[in-house]
Amino acid sequence: MSDTIKWSFSSDRCFRRCQRQYFLTQIAAYHSAKDPVRREAFLCKQLKTLELWRGSLIHTGIEKYVVPAWQQRCTVNWDSAIKQTQELAQQQLAFSVARRYREEGMTKTKAGDRYCALVGHESEVGVSDEEFGTVLTTIETCLRNLSAMSELLGEIQRAEQIWCELPLYIQYDTGRLEVHLDLMFFRSFGQPTIIDWKVSESMGGSDADLQTGLYAWAMCQHPKWRVKEASDCELVEVQLLSNDVIRHRTDDKTFDCIENRIYRSLDSIQSLRQRRKFSIADIEEYEFATNANSCAICSQQMLCRQIAQQQREGELPTAPVKERKKKTKEKSHVSCLELF
Ligand code: SF4
Repeated sequence: MSDTIKWSFSSDRCFRRCQRQYFLTQIAAYHSAKDPVRREAFLCKQLKTLELWRGSLIHTGIEKYVVPAWQQRCTVNWDSAIKQTQELAQQQLAFSVARRYREEGMTKTKAGDRYCALVGHESEVGVSDEEFGTVLTTIETCLRNLSAMSELLGEIQRAEQIWCELPLYIQYDTGRLEVHLDLMFFRSFGQPTIIDWKVSESMGGSDADLQTGLYAWAMCQHPKWRVKEASDCELVEVQLLSNDVIRHRTDDKTFDCIENRIYRSLDSIQSLRQRRKFSIADIEEYEFATNANSCAICSQQMLCRQIAQQQREGELPTAPVKERKKKTKEKSHVSCLELF
């Protein structure tokens, strides 16, 4: 376990929602671990709801079957892009139905684009024909909507170069920040346009400005891109389902808020991380969720429950816990078990 903390907006949200979920998904989860708890945490982390799945299919469809045509300055064959994305959905569904993600030796690299693990296939619930039909229809609706956004498509096609699914890694304080841009191009020197494909509802909530601003902040921090001012970045939220294009700008004040948020988040996470080497006993330092709704949609729920039970029965190692923390934990532990 490195001293550097991997930080992203989603890992920060996870930590705020439930520290145990953060421990399982961000620290314990490890694909090649011999330790069955770490392997299970990794598998549970891959599980997607139908909503997340359709979003990831559409992102992959745009990346694989639309962006290459833009990059080669060719006309996009939208019918073919829709068909190929729907075929990919079929392949992923078959992979998940057969629970191939649980096969011994199966990795995301080995499975490639077919890799898929759906929440429904971890129980009897499955995915109904009707639900799968809705996924196929959503793919078609989103890609057809995109094909009709002529102003946006004109801007993309005029760009000299287009970057798709661009990862930016930035060292900041004790964190290694990861930001992924769905699509990025420069309008002119030092002036990027950053596109965020959205399949669900519009970004709302108190931190929506920070989340969009983070993309611009990351561009300004990264030495490769030579972007100097917050105001040079244009952030475009493309609502593929509702057919809306929402343009955002950011400013220095938002950048200050972003840095403050990252700094405070890293500080809170750092205060719980005890040692370099992974130990399941450390999970005791991490609080259970206090909101039942968080547990109801948590893909780590079964594992979380098993660990809590095994620790109570002395089947897993436990760590000495400071008295002050213990009191807090006992309180939240009870509320979590009630949820189970
Ligand atoms: S089941 Fe609840 S307490 Fe356990 S990890 Fe998930 S959200 Fe946290």
